[in-house]
Amino acid sequence: MIITDIPGISTARAKALQQSDILTAEDLAFFFPRIYIDKRRIVPIGQLAGQGEKVTVTGRVHALQEAGFGRKKRLEVILADQTGQLKGVWFKRIDYFRKMLNKGDYVSFYGSIKRFGKYLTVAHPDVDKFSDDSAASATSSTKGIIPVYSSSQFFKKTYITSGTIQKWILTVLDKHRFKEFLPAYILEEFSFPERNHALRWIHSPETPEQHHIALQRFKFEEFFLFELSVYTLKKKRTEKTAGLIVADTKPYTHHFFNKTLPFQLTQGQKNSLSQIKVDMRSGHSMNRLIQGDVGSGKTVVAIGAMLMAIDSGYQAAMMAPTEILAEQHARTLTKWLNPAGVSVRLLTGKQKKALRDDILTDVMSGRAHIVVGTHAIIQESIQFHRLGLVVIDEQHRFGVAQRALLRDKGLNPHILVMSATPIPRSLAMTLYSDLDLSVIRDLPPGRTPVSTRVLKEGERKAAYSFVKKQIEKGGQVYVIYPLVEESEALDLKNATEGYEQLKADFPDARIGLLHGRMRSDEKESVMDAFTQHDLDILVSTTVIEVGVDVPNASVMLIEHAERFGLSQLHQLRGRIGRGERKSFCFLMTDYKKSKEAQQRLRTMEETNDGFKIAEADLKLRGPGDFLGTRQSGLPEFRFADILNDSHLLEVAKKSAGSLLQSDPGLNKPEHSSLRSVFLPYLKQKKTFFNIS
Ligand code: ADP
Ligand code: MG
Repeated sequence: MIITDIPGISTARAKALQQSDILTAEDLAFFFPRIYIDKRRIVPIGQLAGQGEKVTVTGRVHALQEAGFGRKKRLEVILADQTGQLKGVWFKRIDYFRKMLNKGDYVSFYGSIKRFGKYLTVAHPDVDKFSDDSAASATSSTKGIIPVYSSSQFFKKTYITSGTIQKWILTVLDKHRFKEFLPAYILEEFSFPERNHALRWIHSPETPEQHHIALQRFKFEEFFLFELSVYTLKKKRTEKTAGLIVADTKPYTHHFFNKTLPFQLTQGQKNSLSQIKVDMRSGHSMNRLIQGDVGSGKTVVAIGAMLMAIDSGYQAAMMAPTEILAEQHARTLTKWLNPAGVSVRLLTGKQKKALRDDILTDVMSGRAHIVVGTHAIIQESIQFHRLGLVVIDEQHRFGVAQRALLRDKGLNPHILVMSATPIPRSLAMTLYSDLDLSVIRDLPPGRTPVSTRVLKEGERKAAYSFVKKQIEKGGQVYVIYPLVEESEALDLKNATEGYEQLKADFPDARIGLLHGRMRSDEKESVMDAFTQHDLDILVSTTVIEVGVDVPNASVMLIEHAERFGLSQLHQLRGRIGRGERKSFCFLMTDYKKSKEAQQRLRTMEETNDGFKIAEADLKLRGPGDFLGTRQSGLPEFRFADILNDSHLLEVAKKSAGSLLQSDPGLNKPEHSSLRSVFLPYLKQKKTFFNIS
């Protein structure tokens, strides 16, 4: 149906609709209301008692005025309908509401109504603003539940109101049948209305329950198609790619776990390792994410996995996000694995050609068992003899792309991704939909939570004398400066000046400086010195944010803590509290900081739990920013919300799974409509997943 065929839609109005991405009659039907006004519950102002009843009133803004002084300052807004007047009062966010509300606006107030003298008042009501009075005037003839659609300047110019939109959509629904594609038994199972019916309930509900269940249906539909595609693509991948099978003979593994490792594995580490073992023997290539909070001991799990591969005659590669971390991993691996005869090579960007060639030759001939480096370096022209496993540390986003890249080279290793970003399950389900998940919930024994305090400039002296005592007792200290690209030069200056100042403040301490602009070998020698306890204080930018492990360090002082994100603060703090010493984190801040920054810092004081912190961060920033927007590979849903509708997501996943189990090719007659919708959908998703 062409949109201008709908009575009332002129070319000018069609253009206005186009601005809101409404091009077809179908688009119009899927332009859902922003909110609903339940007129059955709207009370005319003249009928209000003013005894604290909670109701909605609608009308026009009659007047606005500010009253009172200082702390008593308030904004008063007079709302009028045909039956009387009511005063809305704000003591906070006065400027915001003053801007939002204008004389003549159609609005609704919801809140508890009280009578003061001759005035009916409502303090800090929920406010909704409408573009026209079709939804607002309480005593108009329309009754029932009124949908309110998002408006735009183009709508206003062409006199498109919520009322006109609803009328057009109902015309479309009368003339056009939207084909059902969910199988009848699924509709029945969840008591979902059939598609056409659901659209009617969305745009013209008789009860709130109707639009609610109809919306649930459309959210389910989105999740359901998504989960079907996840299962289908995963199945294709495991079918096509027979995985390398690791053997049962295990001299290297045995040597490491029984002779070298100085501690017992935690339950979480053991579980992860046994899941990895099952994967690597399944005949399919492993694609597993190990999720464990900072300090939970993911490196040991990676070592275990690499030894399984090496025991079967394969090589392993370990990729880290930074050179500092790659170097640290190489040190740890060398220390722990050389005694067993495992050869570990570190590849960096700054190595001399002769050394580099030597390493590459060893990797190509198979003499090197493990090669460690940054992602960039390993991706280059490196040739393996028999690559069996790739470990990707602290870079969950790389997993999918990396595999595609390796496959292009004709390689099909097992893949193990490790991440300390503890993301809520529903997010993990969609974001990592192609990965199997192991979670390490426990920390190694003996760790005490880091005690964290927010400090003002005036408390610096006290903090410093505390630091001095800790150094005297043999502890080590990190001092962290922020560094962001936009203000890099200034930030570097801050860090360098801070370093000089600290040398003056702590004349007896051995202090080192580390930042991303230093040469690799300089970085390495500073990091080495700190690891060997040849330095007491390490002044650093965020280059040490992830992965760095110096268990003797027990104090961290973060400068300008208000400038860091919550997850970042948690990662940084994760550098301490790794050993026997009781650990302390000081967050130095300015006096002026935003509400949100205060909230972040308070959360840091309150908890050490990575999952709680991630949740708080997610709430503050939303999923897009939390994961780094589009790069995150987070699928976008039109109606559903991954966080708030996580229950539906689980349900849809289960339904999709059991449907495909009974009919993998969607060949049964009851699935034919679903098939015709799903196949094009899948084609589109395939590019998204970047999997062939
Ligand atoms: P992350 O999970 O943050 O990568 P690491 O693998 O760096 O953590 O481990 C943190 C520290 O805990 C390391 O010093 C490591 O040797 C130690 N560690 C790991 N597992 C255990 C364990 N089971 N018992 C005691 N210490 C452990
Ligand atoms: Mg780590």
